[in-house]
This record gives sequence, structure tokens and C-alpha cells, in this order.
Amino acid sequence: METESTKLGLRIRELFNVDERLWNDWRWQLKNRITRLEELERILNLTEQEAIDIERSLEHLKMAITPYYLSLIDPSNYNDPIRLQSIPSIHELAHMPYETEDPLKEEIYSPLPGLVHRYPDRVLLIVTDSCPTLCRHCTRRRLTEKIKSNNNHIELNKAFEYICSHREIRDVIISGGDPLILPDQMIERIISRLRDIDHVEIIRIGTRVPVTLPQRVTPELCSMLQKYHPIWVNTHFNHPNEITVESSKACEMLANAGIPLGNQSVLLKGINDNVEVMKKLVQGLLKIRIRPYYLYQCDMVEGLSHFRTSIEKGIEIIEALQGFTSGLAVPTFVIDAPGMGKIPISPQYIIGRNGDQILLRNFEGKISAYTNPS
Ligand SMILES: *Cc1c(COP(=O)(O)O)cnc(C)c1O
Repeated sequence: METESTKLGLRIRELFNVDERLWNDWRWQLKNRITRLEELERILNLTEQEAIDIERSLEHLKMAITPYYLSLIDPSNYNDPIRLQSIPSIHELAHMPYETEDPLKEEIYSPLPGLVHRYPDRVLLIVTDSCPTLCRHCTRRRLTEKIKSNNNHIELNKAFEYICSHREIRDVIISGGDPLILPDQMIERIISRLRDIDHVEIIRIGTRVPVTLPQRVTPELCSMLQKYHPIWVNTHFNHPNEITVESSKACEMLANAGIPLGNQSVLLKGINDNVEVMKKLVQGLLKIRIRPYYLYQCDMVEGLSHFRTSIEKGIEIIEALQGFTSGLAVPTFVIDAPGMGKIPISPQYIIGRNGDQILLRNFEGKISAYTNPS
């Protein structure tokens, strides 16, 4: 059966006049990203109003979509989850009074450009500001999507010196942008430098490449990475439609290289703020050996109000997963409250106390008492 979205894939391949080999070449995918309205109009039928809105939005924020990621859209569905995550909308121009450019206060916790030291024993190392596909819900859009360039120049050598001289840092998260947009040699230079630092125990890579550019995960990349274990990868699937033959293969290759895979989703209105969608996503992730790690409440970044759900929605989703499906499939729901760091929010299972007696409810709503040791 041919779905609407595979039809779109064929149409894109025809338009670009590209064969299977080139289509599967990540450099081709990167070079042929859709960044302008005219290119998008050749591929998707846009209404006149949509075209006007996209053009207005593009004056402020950039667009970039890999042909592969675009091919996952069902063109007959205006609320397609891939479409909503990648195609600019006029709502992005609405700024709420409580929204800011950098609600996580990463700049305050940044001892050097490109380095965020928010938690005692680990740092975030931002090695690039570009991504294969620019997510409309990006938290770091101040770095990735802004039209006017900022002078946030990353000096990796200074960052390495900082990590060397701070012996409490035992975990380095390589992030961006998307670090896997860099060539293998550059990634290896970064990882091998970190591996040389005795107190750095684990290295994590935060990347959406398996979702938006799975062709980037090559045998060469995997064999390079596995020389520097323990390496962990956290990726960013938000919807079951992103689990495809291609993304599954990319994850299989990483897992086969001995890399444990986690997933960080963002709760997004109209995309995955739904128990059935989320259950399908987390169960699908386990099948491709990814452990759902965090489910984020959408940050208070400027222009994201149309994506934000209530905190209760997140709790409701976790409550509907916990106990009803594999515990391995249940992520931790977290809010990165402005300047506070991640705060885990979970459904309340303790419903009362009476001295040593703790009143508990289970996932089915049954109530029982547990007696604390006196
Ligand atoms: C999320 C984050 C980390 C990692 O947090 P974990 O809970 O260990 O996954 C580290 N630094 C910053 C700045 C972060 O935002």
C-alpha cells in the first residue's frame, strides 16, 4: 500500500532528479535542504495565506528541512506532525510577556561561550549552532534560527581547558545545534580530547540526526565512536511517524556499536499531547532499542506559545503510561523552569499520611496503606 507520505517522497526525488544512492548520501541531503519558500512551494501545495505567513515568519527565523524529513509529511494533512515541527508558522511571531530568548538562563551559567555548567558534575558543550533540520520548537533558536547573527563564537580549546581544570566534571554532553552535522574527523577531535581528560567518565552526544538525517549514521561514524566508550547518545523523537525504516536502521547501527540510546521528547500541542500517540511512540522506541528518558514541558522560549500544553497534560500522559505499559517505556516528565534546572514532575501516588501509615494508590486507583518502619 502506498501512503500519501511515500508518494511525497517519490515526488521530491523526481523534482530533485536524484537516484537512490545520492538520496541516501547525508551530504546530498544536507546540501539540498529546503530553506526558501519557493522551494517548499514546488513540493507542497500551500494555500496563499500559508505562503504569506511563511514568508513573514522567514523574515525573523530561518527554515531548513532535509528532503528526507520533508518526505515524511502527509501532504493531505495540514496538521501533519512532521509539518508542524518543520514548517514555519505565523504563530511563531507571537511573543508572550512571560517568554524570553533564553529562559533556561544558559548564558548566566555559561563560563565561556559554548559551555554551560548548570549542574555540579556535568557540563553541556555546544559545538555548533547548526542543525540538519531546524525544529520550529527549538529551545536554542537564539543560536540556531535567528536571522541576525550573534557573536557567540565557540572556542573549543578554552572549553577543553575549563573542563580539564574542573575536576568535578565527570560527564560531558556534546550538544548544539546538532554535533553530528560536523564531519567525522571534527567529531573525533572533540571526543578524543575529552577522552584524554582523566576525570571525564562519560561522554554523551545529544543529536536529532537519527530522526531528521538518519543517513548521517554511517558505519565509519559508528566505528569511530565506539573507540571512545563509554559514549551515550540521546536523540529526539517526538512522534511515531518519525520511526521509519531509515531512522530504525540508524539507531540499530548505533546500538550495535555498543552505544546506549535514550530519547528526549518535547510535549507539543497538536503533535504528541495525546496518550495514544505517546504510547505508540514510547513502545515504538523500545522496539528500536531506545529508552525513553525525558519528556520535556515546552520551554518558555519566545514564539512557542502555540506549542505549549498545560503541565496537567504531561502528568496525565505519564499517569496513563505508568503501570499500563513497560516501565522501560515511561520517561520522566520534566520542566526546565526558568533558571532552575530540570524539575521532575510526576503523578501523585502518595495520597495521605497518618503517623507511620502512608496511604498509597496504585495505577488502577486501588488504595492501600504502607507502614513505615518506626
Ligand atoms: C539537561 C542538561 C544537562 C543534563 O542533565 P541530565 O539530567 O543529567 O540529563 C546538563 N546540563 C544542562 C545545561 C542541561 O540543560
